[in-house]
Amino acid sequence: MSCPRCDAPTVAFAIPDDLRDQLPDDRPGAALCTRCLSVTPLDDPPTASPDFARVSDAFPVNDEAAVALACLLALLDSLVLYRAEIDAVAAYAETRGTDVLRTLERLAADDGVEPFLDLDRRARQLEQLI
Ligand SMILES: [Zn+2]
Repeated sequence: MSCPRCDAPTVAFAIPDDLRDQLPDDRPGAALCTRCLSVTPLDDPPTASPDFARVSDAFPVNDEAAVALACLLALLDSLVLYRAEIDAVAAYAETRGTDVLRTLERLAADDGVEPFLDLDRRARQLEQLI
C-alpha cells in the first residue's frame, strides 16, 4: 500500500501482542511510510520480516527493536496523551539493544526521509519523559 498522507511506498509489519497492548489501535499490523514516517494500522500484515532499511539506515537491525521503533513513531505525535505507552514501547526497544533517543536523532538527520512530525523536538521531549 502507499502512504495515505504522502503517497510514498510503505513498509508493512506485524505487531507483537506486547506492543499492540500499548497502541491505541488494536489491529495486528501497521505500515510505516518510507518518506514521512507516518504509521497506518493494517488488518492483514505480512508474515515476512519487514525491511526497515528501506526507510532509513537509522533503523535498528534487530527486527523486534525496529518494529518497536515504528510503533513509537505512531505514538510520538501524541506524546502527552500516550506518555505511559511511549515509555513502555521505548523500554521494549531498549531491552532489545536499541538506544531510542539516538535512533530518533539519526532518523531526524537522515536526508532520505521527510518526517511529518518534528523528530528533533519529539526526541528532546522524550528524553525528559523516559
Ligand atoms: Zn507518507
